[in-house]
Amino acid sequence: MLGHNVIDHDLPILQEQAPHLALHQLPVIDTLRLSPLAFPQNPYHRLVKDYKLIRDSLNSPLSDCSSTLALFNDQRRAFVDLNVSHQTELLCYQALLAPSLKSDLGMLFASIAGQAPKRLTELRTLIPELLRETDPTLTRTLKVCSTRLDQLLEIDIMDETLHWPLAYTLAWLRVSGGNSVLAPWVRHQFPEVGRLITELRDTPCGQSDCGYCSTTHDPRHELRRYFAPIQDFRTEPDGRSLQHDVVLAGMQGKHVLAILATGGGKSLCYQLPALNRFHRNGSLTVIISPLQSLMKDQVDGLLARNVQCAATLNGLLTMPERAEVLEKIQLGDVGILLVSPEQFRNKAFRRVIAQRQVGAWIFDEAHCLSKWGADFRPDYLYVSRFIKQFTGNSDLAAIGCFTATAKPDVLEDIEKHFEEQLGITFERFIGTHERTNLHFEVLPCARAEKRHHTQALLEEELGGNHGGAVVFVSSRKGAEELADFLIGHGWACKHFHAGLEPHEKKDIQDAFKAGELKIIVATNAFGMGVDKADIRLVVHADIPGSLENYLQEAGRAGRDQEQARCVLLYDAQDIENQFGMCEGSKLTLRDIQQILRKLRKESDRRKGGRLVITAGEVLMDEQVETSFEAGERDAETKVVTAVAWLERGQFLKREENQTQIFPASLKLPKEEADKRLATAKLPGRRLEEFKAILSYLYDASADERINTDALMALTSLTKL
Ligand SMILES: [Zn+2]
Repeated sequence: MLGHNVIDHDLPILQEQAPHLALHQLPVIDTLRLSPLAFPQNPYHRLVKDYKLIRDSLNSPLSDCSSTLALFNDQRRAFVDLNVSHQTELLCYQALLAPSLKSDLGMLFASIAGQAPKRLTELRTLIPELLRETDPTLTRTLKVCSTRLDQLLEIDIMDETLHWPLAYTLAWLRVSGGNSVLAPWVRHQFPEVGRLITELRDTPCGQSDCGYCSTTHDPRHELRRYFAPIQDFRTEPDGRSLQHDVVLAGMQGKHVLAILATGGGKSLCYQLPALNRFHRNGSLTVIISPLQSLMKDQVDGLLARNVQCAATLNGLLTMPERAEVLEKIQLGDVGILLVSPEQFRNKAFRRVIAQRQVGAWIFDEAHCLSKWGADFRPDYLYVSRFIKQFTGNSDLAAIGCFTATAKPDVLEDIEKHFEEQLGITFERFIGTHERTNLHFEVLPCARAEKRHHTQALLEEELGGNHGGAVVFVSSRKGAEELADFLIGHGWACKHFHAGLEPHEKKDIQDAFKAGELKIIVATNAFGMGVDKADIRLVVHADIPGSLENYLQEAGRAGRDQEQARCVLLYDAQDIENQFGMCEGSKLTLRDIQQILRKLRKESDRRKGGRLVITAGEVLMDEQVETSFEAGERDAETKVVTAVAWLERGQFLKREENQTQIFPASLKLPKEEADKRLATAKLPGRRLEEFKAILSYLYDASADERINTDALMALTSLTKL
């Protein structure tokens, strides 16, 4: 009797409906049960998706049967190969799952192994052989805790109910450390597998002679393993190492709130526990960060250390890049995933991580969670709601919050948020955010003198020396003008702001890193993209938007721990300008009220329930009177922010995004398209609209995303 998922599904039903059938007497082979053993490297055989068989036609029992047979033949072949490459493993499965020739799998395994099953007591020599460490860079002999293994060989192997879980555990352990994912159905149907792996790999036994525990659970050992040539953690002036303590807490699965200075080795504090966890139990660490440009830097940095399991998902990826990352997550190739908070509203992302066991959720730049911070990101708040749903009744994975901001009200806000949402309290790690090699100065000077002061400072710090400088200004135009002025004085200098093309930005950052470019004049669009160690001078020619921004930007200086200067050129007039800019980006109470009114109106019109609407649809209603208009820069962000505030006030609840993307290309030359349109006999007004849409599409670059709001604005289609 051969079938897919028959043990749990078909046979119990048949037993009830037709208990007298002769087939109940037959030995049973269930291809679902065999899958994780035959294909441990990748649980997704081409014919199986999670536990379901992929059907090539609906409701065709015959095609289900032939798919099952094809799957079984592949499994049999895999076991035949296993008998050649790792016979010990096959013999372990046989002893556990086919203990006699009369058992369900008895004949199958005997025919492949070519011998009768070993006795259970013989597993005491076979299993340790199977679990020998195979990584030549590691000195330990076993892949698991020897203390727990001894107990397992003595007691657990005699417990028949543990035989399937044990077989799955062994299959996973042999290929562990690479792209091996426990299929979600195994985790759910056989919770003992997760428990065994946790006990064998995640729980330090404390015995000094246990080679596995004394290496895997030691932060210093793991630091050298993944971050060589680094030999030890950074130490504080008092000799303690905060970095070590944070990493240890992370490896132990504690909820951590850590304040570490920018440039104080913050990312290592969550990357190292993430790598350690991925190796131990194959779990995924999800790192939520608002800094999209920095994500790629982090992933590249890890790749350069030959860490292959890092990836990022954010708004800067193209559709094919995104699809590739999603697949790698699903297949278990990814252990560290950096995501922007918006991803949690994306259905494809949610579906894919549901396939994985998540080991920890890390909030980088955690001050974005706080409404008191200048960088409050409403999407951050949604993430904890998602985590709560994702976790359900299972154990909550560790939460880590990392920030360079030590403002007490911000920290309290973060702690309160997680206590309310997830019922957790953090272990706090507070580092010094003092950087003794940085010299801070404020230089009063009139607006007109700023260029010359900047020029003089650059002469003092860079004249004839190595290293670079960054000059921050508050506007794009200011950046361009000051850069031109400095180029005129013979400096290798470029401007940098959000208006540049991605490749221009990249070229500038690369040249600056390499030292070919000495100076960058930037708006705050810079600052997070580049990690250059020898910046000797940071000048703020304009006053920055907030104290956090100032520390973040000035903190770019002197990463190499050598002396560096941070100079603020201050003119009382600057405050006015900066204040004016804040005013421009502000959302008024009236804006929020207007948006709420529109949402209520739409909700009523659609008879309540769920409302799907775009920012453009909200703003293009002429009765909605906001201080900003649909086409304006940041208009969408403002609507989203207003909705976030309404959500906080419990006026509404925002769910996942309903974005649909249709990849498409234009097939005709524009002239041809115009001709066809002309012959289409459309009413005059319609024709104009179609023409407008066409020329918009033809003017867009090939990989640009065009949203319906933009197209709607071209037409009279605003009243839907
Ligand atoms: Zn141990």
